[in-house]
Amino acid sequence: MIQQYKGIAPKGDILLIQKLCEKLRGRCILNINSTRKGGGVAEILQRMTPLLKGLDIDARWEVIEGDDRFFDITKKIHNTLQGNMDMITEDMWDHHHAVNEANSRKIDLDADFVLIHDPQPIPLIEYRKRGFYVWRCHIDVSNPLPDIWQRLERYVRSYDCVIFSVSKFSKSLPVDEFIIPPAIDPLSDKNIELTEEEVKRTMDKLNVPMDKPILLQVSRFDVFKDPIGVINAYRRVKKYNDCRLVLAGSLATDDPEGTRVLNEVRDYAGNDPDIHILLLPPSAAREINALQRAATIVLQKSLKEGFGLTVSEAMWKEKPVVGGAVGGIPYQITHGVTGFLVYSVDGAAFRIRQLLNNPGMRKRIGQKAKEYVRRNFLITRQIRDYLSVWYFLENKGQKAIEL
Ligand code: UDP
Repeated sequence: MIQQYKGIAPKGDILLIQKLCEKLRGRCILNINSTRKGGGVAEILQRMTPLLKGLDIDARWEVIEGDDRFFDITKKIHNTLQGNMDMITEDMWDHHHAVNEANSRKIDLDADFVLIHDPQPIPLIEYRKRGFYVWRCHIDVSNPLPDIWQRLERYVRSYDCVIFSVSKFSKSLPVDEFIIPPAIDPLSDKNIELTEEEVKRTMDKLNVPMDKPILLQVSRFDVFKDPIGVINAYRRVKKYNDCRLVLAGSLATDDPEGTRVLNEVRDYAGNDPDIHILLLPPSAAREINALQRAATIVLQKSLKEGFGLTVSEAMWKEKPVVGGAVGGIPYQITHGVTGFLVYSVDGAAFRIRQLLNNPGMRKRIGQKAKEYVRRNFLITRQIRDYLSVWYFLENKGQKAIEL
């Protein structure tokens, strides 16, 4: 399977993956997160697991289960880590722990290398059987509420190392830290090349006419993705440039706020026939692919962001992206070169208009964006990095003695 990436991904990454897999052959890697569908983490694990299996690594992906209360609490933890004011009571922390304890009895935790994704399953470290445990943090923890972070840090200290998506999220921790940005799979249904015909057919099916320039944001319905800000930017642009706005999103099982935000967005959009709010099932990868290819400009106007995989997805399709200058977005967009970074609704509207009025600029930016993603944000680079950390952990003791 890895052979299929030849000619698409950088050759050096493929060579390193092959060599590292020779060393780690037959060993077991276990990924654990909190949803099988919806959001960037599930997207990555869905693709990475079969690829690793094809490289003779025994790769497993498990998802913790919890009740509604658990996901309300973990969403609160998520929001407070991203800086929102809220309270997590002792009782809530106890429930968070108890649900993980119950999961530890259901999930086979026996593996050589265990990647625990985000705060939902973080207490599982207490049930380690053997192997190396890595906490893989995808969210923006650059400015968390201090007491919430302190509470999580109690768990973090027991891990063998921590992986953050971008350097500005890293903390001063007593365990080793690595920076590994997420990545997209150029061969998945989400990103594979589509014919123009399929794009048109899909847009017809979704009832989005291709008669005007299309602005698109693909995101879970979440306030941090700023869908209301996107509508405001579109309204400013619309005074001068005729266009359509598509807000495409799905609901993730570990995100209980989605429906409320979706309803707010629908109300706010009113009955403007040029605003299309599409609620898609998380399995609609080819539809998202077609939407991104049909778009004239892709927006990711987040106010807080872990990484923002949607940015790389659009860049891979040679689209100019206007993105909020938060989280991992500035690591993907070099302002004015591979897209535009914005800090406000006015800023977004200004850049959208500049791009709408300048097809040459759209093309130039799109081409550079694709090459930047090829070199930095393809799944092969990410697998290379995970395997390197695993290899490092297995050999760390020996190295320390040598030093
Ligand atoms: N996504 C999707 N359908 C939707 C909304 C999002 O398939 O309706 C995908 C999107 O294409 C991307 C991922 O979910 O692959 C979102 O990842 P990102 O890092 O942008 O945001 P997160 O949801 O993890 O905060």
